[in-house]
Amino acid sequence: MDPDHRTQVSPLNGDPPNPIDPPDGCRFRDRCPHAHAVCAAQAPVLAAVGENVAHSVACHMNDRLSGHPEATQENPA
Ligand code: SF4
Repeated sequence: MDPDHRTQVSPLNGDPPNPIDPPDGCRFRDRCPHAHAVCAAQAPVLAAVGENVAHSVACHMNDRLSGHPEATQENPA
């Protein structure tokens, strides 16, 4: 938060997921620019990013076996 560096454009588009009734699949798919059919069909699993066990992500793009066309990582889990 820096009042001298305000942005006019929101960094996130779309509506946040309803915590009482979250959508099926990935909860962020309604506001994700990379959402694909697999994101609606299946919730992604939290997994390490590549060999880096200090960083984890729950995204089908992190699992090249997920069926997501932009998947680039092999999920070590
Ligand atoms: S799984 Fe990843 S690509 Fe798919 S909607 Fe969620 S954040 Fe976006």
